Amino acid sequence: MSTMRAVQVARLGGPLELVERPIPEPGPGHVRIKVHACGICHSDVMVRDGHLPGLQYPRVPGHEVIGVIDKVGPDVAARWTEGMRVGVGWHAWHCGECDPCRRSQFFACETGVQVTGASFDGGYADYMIAPARGLARLPETLSAREAAPLMCAGLTTFNALRHCGARPSDLVGILGIGGLGHLGVQYAAKMGFRVAAIARGQDKEPLAHELGASYYIDSQATDPAEELAKLGGAQAIIATVTNGPAMAATIGGLAPLGRLMVLGASAEPIEASSLALLSARRAIEGWYSGTSIDAEDTLTFSSYAGVQSMNEYYPLERADEALDRMLSGKARFRVVLTMES
Ligand SMILES: [Zn+2]
Ligand SMILES: [Zn+2]
Repeated sequence: MSTMRAVQVARLGGPLELVERPIPEPGPGHVRIKVHACGICHSDVMVRDGHLPGLQYPRVPGHEVIGVIDKVGPDVAARWTEGMRVGVGWHAWHCGECDPCRRSQFFACETGVQVTGASFDGGYADYMIAPARGLARLPETLSAREAAPLMCAGLTTFNALRHCGARPSDLVGILGIGGLGHLGVQYAAKMGFRVAAIARGQDKEPLAHELGASYYIDSQATDPAEELAKLGGAQAIIATVTNGPAMAATIGGLAPLGRLMVLGASAEPIEASSLALLSARRAIEGWYSGTSIDAEDTLTFSSYAGVQSMNEYYPLERADEALDRMLSGKARFRVVLTMES
């Protein structure tokens, strides 16, 4: 029997370990992907630490997967063929039958969204099995290693921006210049928004401008709400940080009908004065990633607009070290596993 390398979490809270496993066979509605690269996302730690419902171990994490369809299972739509370059992100499958799905609210599927690398084994491996419904086509112009982070960090920021209610020439704030934020600034600029990058300290100011920000706001030295208000108010703020007070500090900088889009996952509360919300009909809205067609749109847009993730690369067998690097907060900006041995 042929085997492959996989990096798994063997038990709740356990370390990442490299193992040999049989190469899996795709069942009905599924394909096998030869993985070329897989990004490491902060949510992978939630898989290790059991912070997602219904986790079973051992589990191979990884939901920023890019590879090639290597084998097509039975009952797969004809558009998916062997040799196609594809990506798989967080949201791999929903039932399509429950009331939220019937309203196209797939993120709220009552059966439970099947999450890549959490509900089933993900991309920290040479091969993985994915539902065909969860696939996104990868444009020829994007390399696997460069594109991997676009499947979650890219998709989440791109999709939040195109649903944030702002229109070209409006001011949009990107709070946090890290794994998500450095992509958010690029997408927002390419979509035609005036972009205010908001981060602590001065170090990221030159990079923020290089990525396309028109303004830089140092949230340590100034009051970010006041600074946004001086610029006319932001129609939307894309909050990529997980710090509740940092998000709350921007709310007063929203224009009338402006929205704070919350992307950073944390249990920490965001305190807002009701007066600040109701006086200008400001809103706070949560945003999750998106479905496979949203991922495909992200890849297409990234390709023709020239949006690029800044990545550090590690071979698959050094996944544990790569995860630590991501957690250190020092990586510039996304950490990606590559599968060439
Ligand atoms: Zn993710
Ligand atoms: Zn459903």
